[in-house]
Amino acid sequence: MTQAPHATHDVYNQSPPFEDVDLYAIDRPLAAAVAANGGTGAADDLSGFGRTWGSAAMAERGRLANEHTPKLRSFDARGFRRDVVEFHPAYHDLMAASAQAGLHNSTWTVDGRPAGGASEVVRAAKFYMAAQVETGHLCPVTMTRASVAALSAQPDLLARTMAVIAARAYDPAFAPWWTKRGMTLGMGMTEKQGGTDVRSNMTRAERAGDGYRITGHKWFMSAPMCDAFLVLAQADAGLTCFFLPRFAPDGSVNAIQFQRLKDKLGNRSNASSEVEFFGAYAERVGEEGKGIRTIIQMVQLTRQDCAIASAALMRSGLAHALHHARHRCVFQKHLADQPLMQAVLSDMALHLEGTVALVMRLCRSFDRAPQDATEAAHMRLLTPAVKYWVCKSAPGFVYEAMECLGGNGYVEDGILARHYREAPVNAIWEGSGNVMCLDVPRALSREPDAAVTILQALAEDTKGLPGAGEAAVFIGNAFRRADGERIARLAVEKLSLLAATAALNRVSPRQAELFAATRLATTHAGMYGAVDLDLKDVRTLLDRALP
Ligand SMILES: Cc1cc2nc3c(=O)[nH]c(=O)nc-3n(C[C@H](O)[C@H](O)[C@H](O)COP(=O)(O)OP(=O)(O)OC[C@H]3O[C@@H](n4cnc5c(N)ncnc54)[C@H](O)[C@@H]3O)c2cc1C
Repeated sequence: MTQAPHATHDVYNQSPPFEDVDLYAIDRPLAAAVAANGGTGAADDLSGFGRTWGSAAMAERGRLANEHTPKLRSFDARGFRRDVVEFHPAYHDLMAASAQAGLHNSTWTVDGRPAGGASEVVRAAKFYMAAQVETGHLCPVTMTRASVAALSAQPDLLARTMAVIAARAYDPAFAPWWTKRGMTLGMGMTEKQGGTDVRSNMTRAERAGDGYRITGHKWFMSAPMCDAFLVLAQADAGLTCFFLPRFAPDGSVNAIQFQRLKDKLGNRSNASSEVEFFGAYAERVGEEGKGIRTIIQMVQLTRQDCAIASAALMRSGLAHALHHARHRCVFQKHLADQPLMQAVLSDMALHLEGTVALVMRLCRSFDRAPQDATEAAHMRLLTPAVKYWVCKSAPGFVYEAMECLGGNGYVEDGILARHYREAPVNAIWEGSGNVMCLDVPRALSREPDAAVTILQALAEDTKGLPGAGEAAVFIGNAFRRADGERIARLAVEKLSLLAATAALNRVSPRQAELFAATRLATTHAGMYGAVDLDLKDVRTLLDRALP
């Protein structure tokens, strides 16, 4: 399309839009990590998904869904309560596309068992691509997928809900879940007096007939238009997990009132509510008093998705930065050919290679955990570490990507300002940074033999790489120290770096060597580009990142 000329000047030296690309085909580190973790056969499927989500139309939906934010309609015109949230049509389109691709259910069989094969890795690759375009709508998508793990504690309820969850359909109607073509589920744990410390929950549950009546509040409950929520409440035997639907079994609207929607830094397309329950109908999930044990099965999966989504924000940042640098000239030379910009971009590309290899290796352990005890231990030990390290890396990485675009990067017309506002949330929700660091030694102490096996495997997989041996010794010693909690961040960061090196070594040994040399053998500077890579490696990294 020819643009109308400006009267005063020509427009030139602006990079063209980065759209209508195949997000899979242009991402060699992703394809290599998927292949190394069992997903080779899915290349065509992933490319089709990559083209759909890399289209200009999807990017526009992402923009619209964030610009036209959800609105709470508490009352109707006559003053009766409605408690519904309205979304822009673009949000519904994004939800429909994610549901149709099975992002909310493809890791489960129709009866709610792990689907096996490489289903986790393949779904993670899709989630990674979708999150590069729009992350807010993925909140209910990830919670729905994860809820199945908790619902497994209540087989009768699982069987009834899977009949709807298993459909690859999105049905936004405000109607009882059992009448719908597809359903979404949310989660309510956090109360005003405590989010990490859910044992302090005050919300009460009283037996009533076959079910329970829930009374109390939640300070954060995202995606309030979900059809049901898994909530924690105090029953006679202690903190218990409940299935709390929007409609009671008799078809009446359940006694749930949304007080307001949070005014958030980012994550704007997603609604996050403050909510009160006035004797709302609920069914128990799992045993009374075992609420944390039940819901943690769900949280394990949402933590995995936090890491995937954070890696995705970084990938989108790098791709936009590289694309811009290859088109933008400064002092008669493309930015991508300026040595200092090459240093920045290649260091970022290296960081992301390690990140995506680490995340896909983690997803592989989710695939294999049901039949392999060592992989199950890998999953338990590495999930909090990966969630911590990847989610914490994202804001700084996205900021650096933004700066590569100069002033345009800081302006809301582009996607990077949105990614930057989005990036911190993955580190905060589903267990904040310190909580993740405390979870690693907890997992270690519960299964010390398995933990030793995992550490030995990481040491073996990184043998001979710069700094790897020392890192393995440091990690082992750190977790044995009596004051280990004080240095938990240091130990968990080293563990993540070692695991990333090991994962990358299976994908691309040369990149693993560079990753280890710049991140294990020495402390990586706070800034990207403050490394000394040779030119051949720089070129390879940049070609792999964006051909
Ligand atoms: C956008 C958004 C949406 C959300 N949606 C939901 C939702 O749908 N459902 C839901 O249940 N919750 C939701 N949350 C809440 C979120 O999970 C909590 O905010 C989070 O778990 C932290 O709890 P808190 O806010 O009470 O902070 P606190 O628990 O008070 O923690 C504050 C800080 O202290 C640190 N800390 C805690 N314990 C320790 C310790 N022992 N040692 C050292 N440091 C420690 C934490 O890491 C954190 O940095 C959402 C939050 C946000 C921002």
